[in-house]
Amino acid sequence: MTKEDKAWANAVKTRDGWKCVICAETNRPNAHHIIARENHSAKYDIHNGISLCPKHHFFCRQLSAHNNPMGFLIWLERNRPDQFSYIKVIMREILNAKD
Ligand SMILES: [Zn+2]
Repeated sequence: MTKEDKAWANAVKTRDGWKCVICAETNRPNAHHIIARENHSAKYDIHNGISLCPKHHFFCRQLSAHNNPMGFLIWLERNRPDQFSYIKVIMREILNAKD
């Protein structure tokens, strides 16, 4: 993890109060990239980050960013509509640039 990666993760977790935004678990929140970090234009955008506990990051079948991305995105749209709208704009720009 680079210095820039750490700074991004710290900024995301500080914004979210160092807890999972879904269940409020405070034990070891992860900073998750909503648009995958391989898309360099969004890699260090704090609005592309969200704090999740390991369960909601990786493991939960119904609601985790990696194990059920569609469930996670529906949660995001319902609970953080401004962030969801922003992510849609950025993702469309990324897709358009690859046409
Ligand atoms: Zn959680």
